[in-house]
Amino acid sequence: MDPKKSSTLYYVIKVLSIPVREMEKILMAFSRETIEAAWKRSGGKCECRRKTHNHPYVRCNKTLSFANRGKDGAWGAWEAHHITAVSSGGSDALSNCEILCMECHKNTGSYGR
Ligand SMILES: [Zn+2]
Ligand SMILES: [Zn+2]
Repeated sequence: MDPKKSSTLYYVIKVLSIPVREMEKILMAFSRETIEAAWKRSGGKCECRRKTHNHPYVRCNKTLSFANRGKDGAWGAWEAHHITAVSSGGSDALSNCEILCMECHKNTGSYGR
């Protein structure tokens, strides 16, 4: 999605006062190919490297289950995260896609905002 289009969409959603969580679902628009490529790159493990999360190593590396994308509470649940939020002009390209376990995803700045 090009940034211009997504910021227009963001504005429309704001005007309609759709809850932010719902808006994120609408804007979460990685293609299937991108998700699959990101998953392959991740090796099925959380790609988070945020220093603030206190991972035992640099990377979280939590083992994830492909079938449990978005299934909070399920074993190995994960999300495809926009490194730069779509509302800030981030793209849906593979380079902006990060595979995160639920814990890490909830601890990103843009979660639930
Ligand atoms: Zn993680
Ligand atoms: Zn993390």
